[in-house]
Amino acid sequence: MFCRKCGAKNDDNATFCSSCGAKLHEANQQTANPDLATLVEKKKSLIAVILNFFFPGIGYWYWGYKKVLGIHPALVFIGWIVVTSFCSYLLYGLGLVFLALSLFVAYDLYVKTEGKPGWIEASK
Ligand SMILES: [Zn+2]
Repeated sequence: MFCRKCGAKNDDNATFCSSCGAKLHEANQQTANPDLATLVEKKKSLIAVILNFFFPGIGYWYWGYKKVLGIHPALVFIGWIVVTSFCSYLLYGLGLVFLALSLFVAYDLYVKTEGKPGWIEASK
């Protein structure tokens, strides 16, 4: 192994660096490794959070949770897809109903301006 303090090559079983005398295993553990592990963990947690925003449930799965709300995280995601699709469908349907109503009252007034009674009762 290489000494993290001075970079000198040492025997793998050596406890102290032959060049600078630093304790090899301790020196190796204190530098780089914990910081790198923390950094990797931070990056992984960020990915998990972003995943959970775009694909609710998948982020939990990515982070290692086996169950969310008592069910598998992938099922949470599937449930989310089903509910949001259904809501979008309902809203889309409502939008079509309102569009049809607007067209109807517009057409009714058009018919009235032509001198015919139309369908919606109105008096002056
Ligand atoms: Zn050294």
